Amino acid sequence: MIQISNVGKHYGAFQVLKNCTTTINKGEVVVVCGPSGSGKSTLIKCVNGLEPFQSGDIVVNGTSVGAAGTNLSKLRAHVGMVFQHFELFPHMSITDNLSLAQVKVLGRSEDEARDKGLKLLERVGLKAHAHKFPGQLSGGQQQRVAIARALAMDPICMLFDEPTSALDPEMVNEVLDVMTELAQEGMTMMCVTHEMGFAKRVANRVIFMDQGSIIEDDQKEAFFSNPQSERARQFLAKIL
Ligand code: ADP
Ligand code: MG
Repeated sequence: MIQISNVGKHYGAFQVLKNCTTTINKGEVVVVCGPSGSGKSTLIKCVNGLEPFQSGDIVVNGTSVGAAGTNLSKLRAHVGMVFQHFELFPHMSITDNLSLAQVKVLGRSEDEARDKGLKLLERVGLKAHAHKFPGQLSGGQQQRVAIARALAMDPICMLFDEPTSALDPEMVNEVLDVMTELAQEGMTMMCVTHEMGFAKRVANRVIFMDQGSIIEDDQKEAFFSNPQSERARQFLAKIL
């Protein structure tokens, strides 16, 4: 589903991604972790073309992200992305947040988009809040809306960039529960997160990044029981 091959990226003289290579198969859940500044957000943004890269390529479901002439808007319409800070439209109701891209990008009718949105809100336990505005919801509720909004586009895979790290602790689990359900339904997921409980329960593989490189790319059992690199060992010792 997602094939990342020798991806390199610079900001001026600073190399933010170095020769990153990995493959995420259909239905796999891969957790990406590593210290702050190691390039996790940059890598995940490269996958749906939000960040350009200078070398290598990424192929998502057969579409080359790096090739000239690829319609990145079309690709992004089918790759769901959930950010740390929700990024809901603050001036629009939850219903309208869920409908907008369905209507504008996929060409669905308002009715169809609203119905689909309501179904997804029900699924994340927020149907009663459809008429509210984002500011009237808690952080955990807003993030569940953001996930529902991404799902409304019938994504072929989902990218998460630290979806719970801006939340109060008591709200983390309600978001992880929604992500866990998605994984169990077979969604292909690439999740930047430091929630190692989630990784242990839900992930198939764990990627560890440091200084722009993928240092480890292991089955989760191997990552947690016997990380190969000293850097991953130190990282795990700090966060577990
Ligand atoms: P992570 O998500 O792992 O914390 P990022 O991908 O956000 O890391 O950033 C990786 C590195 O790239 C950091 O050192 C960061 O300072 C740098 N960086 C990120 N965005 C830019 C930018 N627009 N210009 C220059 N450097 C950047
Ligand atoms: Mg980041």
